[in-house]
Formats: sequence, structure tokens, C-alpha cells
Amino acid sequence: MQLRVIGCHGGETPKHRTCTFLLDERLAIDAGSLTSGLDLSVQYKLEAVLVSHSHLDHVRDLATIADNRVQHGCPPLEIVGTKPTLDVLRTHFFNDLLWPNFAAIPSKKEPTIVYRTLRPEVRAEVAGFGVRAIAVSHTIDTSAFIVDKNGVAVAYSGDTGPTDRLWEVLNGRKDLRALLMEVSFPNEQQRIATLSGHHTPQTLRTDLAKYARPKELPTLLYHIKPAFQREVERQCAKLKGVNLDVLRLGDQLLL
Ligand SMILES: [Zn+2]
Ligand SMILES: [Zn+2]
Repeated sequence: MQLRVIGCHGGETPKHRTCTFLLDERLAIDAGSLTSGLDLSVQYKLEAVLVSHSHLDHVRDLATIADNRVQHGCPPLEIVGTKPTLDVLRTHFFNDLLWPNFAAIPSKKEPTIVYRTLRPEVRAEVAGFGVRAIAVSHTIDTSAFIVDKNGVAVAYSGDTGPTDRLWEVLNGRKDLRALLMEVSFPNEQQRIATLSGHHTPQTLRTDLAKYARPKELPTLLYHIKPAFQREVERQCAKLKGVNLDVLRLGDQLLL
């Protein structure tokens, strides 16, 4: 499984992009930079997008990719998430007010996007991958995803603060090769991190201890706020007993 980092930050500047990760050029995780970070040819090839939650930094480029794909006559793009997430997209995003309803364009029979509901914890086949959504702890309904193919699995935490169920499930996965893990704020911003449902390096360290072998699990950090990039990296570098790396735009990993 090839993983490509298209966007990995908790904010946007010309040097930082909001979250999108691409698996084998077919399946995207989150839509923060689907169009700002991908050429048209790659946008056209995409089969499905897993949406962790409905916050704008994770869904924004669904608007522009739908528009780009309809021009090219692409097959429907599957937008995959839990029911609460998809309900927000239907009601507040592709609602013919904020943006056209691409689930009925060019026609209801041949739409540009189709919604696909994931039942929490139930494995589903999406674009040739196995996908399981696990609820995590953010300010709204948010899922982590465990994606597997050919006996290899990668996990994506979604936006979350301290949480329990994800670690229970990960502890049972012998096929897990890497965890993409959010950390957003430095320790000094703990109050805002707690209020907004995000990790600081100190809460990340405590949560990683819920995993049986944190030292053996490559933990790839993302969603750092651009304003705090250096400070968060400095604090994470000091954490002991873990196996952390910070993801960068353009990184490619073979899992
Ligand atoms: Zn969020
Ligand atoms: Zn976010």
C-alpha cells in the first residue's frame, strides 16, 4: 500500500495544507487539499474519499473536486463516512445554497458524487480496501479509520483528544504497520486543545501508553497548527518510549 501525504497540517498557508492522504492513488482520507494539492489527472482517477468528520478543514475540497470531475464526465466519486457526517454534508454543504447538490448533477441517475454510509466498527469494502470507522473524541461526531489491503493495515486517528476505544481496537490488530496520529497544539495551549478536542504532546504521550507496544508502532504526526509547528515538534522530540515522526507535504510511504 502506498501512502502519499497531500496535506497534513491543522491550518493553511502557502506552505501548509489541510488534511488529505492518498492511498494507491485511488482512495483519499479527508478532503482538506484534494484539489489544492492534486493535479487534475489524479483527481479524475480517485474512486472514494473517506471523511473523518464534517469540519471544513477536512471537507472543503469536496466542493472543488466535484466541480472538476463533472467537467470531465468522471464516474461518481464515493463520499464515505458515518451518518452524522454525511447528513451535515447533505444539509449544509451540497445543499444548493452553499454549493450545488452534486448528488443530482448532471442527473440523479448519473451523479458526480454518491454518499456511502459507514456503520461504526463494521468493516466495509471501499475502492478495493477494507475500511473500519472507530469513533474518537472531538467536538462533533468524528471517526478514526483503519484501512487494510493484502494483510497490511494503516490507521488514521482523525481529529481527536484523549480517547479509549481506538486504542482497544488497535491493540487487537496484528497487521497494523503505521498510525497517522493527530497532534495540534503545544503543551502551553492545553486549555484550547482540551476545549477544541485536540492533542498536545503531553496528552498524546499519555494516550499512546494505552497502546501495548508504542515503541514498535511507527506513529506519524499530522494536524499541527502552522503557528505552533516548531514548538510542537520540539516537544514531541523529547517524548520517550514512543516511535514518532512528523509527516511532511509530499512524503510517500510504502506500507
Ligand atoms: Zn475537527
Ligand atoms: Zn481538523
